[in-house]
Amino acid sequence: VENRAATVSGAWDFEVELRSDPATTEARTAVLDKPGFGQAFTDHMVLASWTSDLGWHDQKVTAYAPLRVSPAAAVLHYAQEIFEGLKVFRHEDGSVWAFRPEVNAARFSRSAQRLALPEVPQEDFVAALRALVTVDEVWVPPAGSGETSLYLRPYMIATEAALSVRPAREVLFGVIASPAGPYFNTGPKPVSIWLSTTSIRATPGGTGAAKCGGNYAASLAALAEAVANGCDQVVYLDAVERRWIEESGSMNVFFVYSDGRIVTPELSGSILEGVTRASVLELAEDLGHKVEERRISADEWRDGVRSGDITEAFASGTAAVITPIGRLAWAEGDLTIGDHSVDHGVGPVTASLRASLLDLQYGRVPDPRGWLT
Ligand code: PMP
Repeated sequence: VENRAATVSGAWDFEVELRSDPATTEARTAVLDKPGFGQAFTDHMVLASWTSDLGWHDQKVTAYAPLRVSPAAAVLHYAQEIFEGLKVFRHEDGSVWAFRPEVNAARFSRSAQRLALPEVPQEDFVAALRALVTVDEVWVPPAGSGETSLYLRPYMIATEAALSVRPAREVLFGVIASPAGPYFNTGPKPVSIWLSTTSIRATPGGTGAAKCGGNYAASLAALAEAVANGCDQVVYLDAVERRWIEESGSMNVFFVYSDGRIVTPELSGSILEGVTRASVLELAEDLGHKVEERRISADEWRDGVRSGDITEAFASGTAAVITPIGRLAWAEGDLTIGDHSVDHGVGPVTASLRASLLDLQYGRVPDPRGWLT
């Protein structure tokens, strides 16, 4: 670890303060054997500070530990915060690879602009991920341990102690890392979706296209409503006509038609532009599907399922990869999607897209587009 730490470099210069009390091999192995999601964290974290007069400074890799922030920190009151999520995979030869980190870097910049936060130069964002993964590489789960990875969580918070409502003049950027297990222990399992007609996730001109904490806080009551109605996730309609499918609370959605077309809602300005979504659109074309980004209404979804025109639906996101949608429920009704008597309800198109994405991420097929870093 010391030798590796010495080679950490980027446009930002990271001071590396290795902790004297890293997890024991036994403790780490126990986590890697049963990683779960977002519960255990690696030994170190990245921190960088920004002030309006100094810009970015004090970039470091340091021991994972609680942060000290003022109770008056703007983030605690006004939610000036953004974050990202991406995964690092270990390949059969032992090497470790991040999936499209530059796309997350670009989205982080767009989120920063929307939340009036300073931008992290995109190459420095990637350098920060590299710095942390270099030091904590032993926390990337071993190859052959199923769909495991190291989940990286970059974030930025307004730390200035000031109760005026204005862009903060002191900000903290950080990256933490958490070993992640398969989202579903027994392979992908279809999720049920609650079509919310009362809650709105995002509005034109709002923050829906940014990855900011407030969006997720605002989604929790609707999620509770979904769970109360026996569903796993919410799907939201557009805010203006209350007619067009947008996305779920943490995943983009896709529809597979009987003629092989794949349709996903076009980016409306209030949908989060998923890295997985963009990747699925390209992989689907490789597999010979015609892909369409366009508006699709809740009625088209319901009618399509009833007529057999829509044969599969799935959701995409970093954490859940590609997850089949097996049921759609709303206040007045309920529909089953796909044939649940074969392949645990995972449709053939969903399964093949899922396999091509995972094969690429785990290095089992070539990476012609250079998606792995
Ligand atoms: N929509 C929302 C609202 C999300 O939070 C996420 C997860 N980042 C996604 C879609 C999927 O994005 P990605 O494929 O980049 O994980």
